[in-house]
Formats: sequence, structure tokens, C-alpha cells
Amino acid sequence: MDRIFRGIMKYRSTDRSKMVEQFMEVRCNPVPKAVFFTCMDSRMIPTRFTQTNIGDMFVVRNPGNVIPHSQHFLDEYTTNEPAALELGCVLNDIRHIIVCGHSDCKAMNLLYKLRDEEYSSKINRRISPLRSWLCTHASSSLEKYQQLEVSGYHNPLIFQSETALRKFVAYIDLEDKFSLEDKLSQVHCLQQLANIASYGFLKRRLEQHQLHIHALWFDIYTGDIYYFSRQNKRFIEINENSVEMLSNEVKKYYS
Ligand SMILES: [Zn+2]
Repeated sequence: MDRIFRGIMKYRSTDRSKMVEQFMEVRCNPVPKAVFFTCMDSRMIPTRFTQTNIGDMFVVRNPGNVIPHSQHFLDEYTTNEPAALELGCVLNDIRHIIVCGHSDCKAMNLLYKLRDEEYSSKINRRISPLRSWLCTHASSSLEKYQQLEVSGYHNPLIFQSETALRKFVAYIDLEDKFSLEDKLSQVHCLQQLANIASYGFLKRRLEQHQLHIHALWFDIYTGDIYYFSRQNKRFIEINENSVEMLSNEVKKYYS
């Protein structure tokens, strides 16, 4: 806690006055650009690696950047993620949702272990809310990953996106740069797009192309950030060579 107190004292003498100015600007003209779902991992600081500022994004974090599928709820407000979607995309009319996964994700490493029946047994789920959370809401990612595993990691996966009819194809880590758990993390990230689209209160916006869902993936080891390109059917590193092509893709498909 001492570290936090010292940080707050430093903030009071440095960033505070600038931030108060920005709060005032945003209050008069709030135009948030994205609802950003990511993992609660302490290494993930999305406002820093996207260089976004006050008023730019609604950030929602949990273990493993999971957005539960609506089928788990009779009403659509049982966990915070659907409520966050409504607050961002309906009440604030935000047009873009971004799901950002990452490498060496402790939640994804645990999800990988949940393939073991003993590890994911009812008794073990009762004593571990994290296992229970992942078993309930991320087993669809695991099933998708197992399709990939069966194909020797070569065949593409097909994911549902904005509507039941809109699907996209994804090759996962064809260069075999990442561990099996990291491959699962990328699959899981893409699976969340279908989970988001499962909510009835977003249906009209999604069908009318007023709301778009994107996937990012952050490599903790190198600091590289990848965007899932539907055109290229894979995660593409965002860098000097690719940014214009990715930007054109986003303009073409999502403007
Ligand atoms: Zn994580």
C-alpha cells in the first residue's frame, strides 16, 4: 500500500492538474471510441500501449478477458461484462468493441490445464472460483482449440462474428512462434467475438453494421501487438510495414 500512497502523492504534484483539465473537456464533449476488454494481468496497461487518454475508451478487465456467452443467463445482466457492453455500446453509443488477449496469460495457462478431467472436476471447481469461471465461460474456447490441435495446428478455424451469418476464417500461429497455451489464448480471444454477438440487445446494431468487434493480441515477451485481420485470416503484427494495410482494412470493412 505504501507504493500506492507514494504514487498518489507523486500524481498530486505532477499529472493531477492536467487530468482535471481533461476531465472538464470530456464532460462537455464525451466521445469514447471503444469498449476495450482485456485481462486483469498487471502487465497489461492498455491505455499505455494504445496511447489513449481520458475519455477515449471504456476498459473492462477480468481474469482471461472472458466475455460470457448469453446462453448462460436467463436475464442478460448476471455478470458485469454484459452490463459493460450495454453501458458502452447502448447508453454511450460506442461503435467499436476490442477484445485484447495476451501471451503468458495465467488464466489461459490454467484453461489449458482444465483439459484434464481431474483438474476440472466438480470438487476442484468448487474450491476454485477461477477454475469454475473458466470452465463455465471459456470451455467453448477450449473446444475450438481442440479442433486446431486435431489438425496438427495447420487447418483454419471458423468463427462466428457479428451475426449468425457472418463468419470469418482464422489460421493460428502458422509460423509456430508461440507455445500451445499462447495458441489457445489467440483462439480464445477470437471466440469472445461470438460471445459478444450473442447478446440480443446488440443484435440490431450488429446487423446494421453500426457496431464492430475486433481482436488484438499482446505479446508480453516482445511488446509486439497483433491485430486480427479478417482479410488475411490471421493475427498480423502492427508495425511500420502493416499499419497502413490494417488501417485500410478497418476503413473498408468497418466504416
Ligand atoms: Zn491474462
